[in-house]
Amino acid sequence: MAKGFGVSRTKTPCPCGSGEVYDLCCAPLHQGAQRAVTAEQLMRSRYTAYALSKVDYLIATHPTPHLSDQQRRKDLRSNCRQTRWLGLRIVSVEGGDAMHLEGIVRFEAIFSVAGKRSVLRETSQFERRGGVPDGDWLYVKGLSEVS
Ligand SMILES: [Zn+2]
Repeated sequence: MAKGFGVSRTKTPCPCGSGEVYDLCCAPLHQGAQRAVTAEQLMRSRYTAYALSKVDYLIATHPTPHLSDQQRRKDLRSNCRQTRWLGLRIVSVEGGDAMHLEGIVRFEAIFSVAGKRSVLRETSQFERRGGVPDGDWLYVKGLSEVS
């Protein structure tokens, strides 16, 4: 078990690849101290949440009414345990800015499962909670492709 995973990461580069340290990049979003201003920022913070097993953040930023939080927590925990996330590249962004209600982010994420490296390419769809300008960015769904 990855107990104590989030401890003393102060100077650790953020897994999302922004070049910033984690504490100044995705951490304030994970801790609820800041909200994502853009869809890309939410996407990066969700990638980092996968990398660091921040399961509650993944649940909070991706509503799935047909699944219980308990089931999702179980699925995400096992996913995070099995997968090592090795790098993120944002390919393109449409909309998803401070003045938008929706956004599309295309990305590539390198990961390994059981020592086998793969690339996940996904076109992710984001929208604001409630469809209003001051709603938090949420991940809606993604069309993904693994190679
Ligand atoms: Zn980050």
